[in-house]
Amino acid sequence: MAIMEAPANTPVWIDTVRCKACDVCVSVCPAGVIAMVPEPTSTLGAMISVQNPESCIGCNDCELQCPDFAIYVADKKEYKFAKLTDEAKERSEAIIKNNYRALGV
Ligand code: SF4
Ligand code: SF4
Repeated sequence: MAIMEAPANTPVWIDTVRCKACDVCVSVCPAGVIAMVPEPTSTLGAMISVQNPESCIGCNDCELQCPDFAIYVADKKEYKFAKLTDEAKERSEAIIKNNYRALGV
C-alpha cells in the first residue's frame, strides 16, 4: 500500500482519494486541528480538512484510528509540534458538538 510522501513543513495531511469522510479522526483529535467541510463532489457531501495545523500536538491519534489509512502525521524529528492549549481543547469540543463540521463554515 503506497503511503503519500510527507509534504514539507506540514504536521498532518490527508489522502482525499482514500478518505471516506467517516469523522473518526475528527472525533479523536484533542486539539481541533481537523474538521469536515462541505464538498459537493464527495459521496457524503463533506471532506476532511486540516483547519488549524498550528495547533497539532503530534499525538498521532488521527492516523492510528483512521480505518482507511488516509491521514498522516509528520515525524517528530521533522516537525516541531504545538503544546495542547485550552483554546485548542475548547475548539475540539466545539467541533465535535458541531457534528464534526468546521466552525463557521
Ligand atoms: S478517519 Fe480517515 S477516512 Fe475517516 S474522515 Fe478521517 S481521514 Fe477520512
Ligand atoms: S496528530 Fe493529534 S493533534 Fe494532530 S491532527 Fe492528529 S489527532 Fe489532531
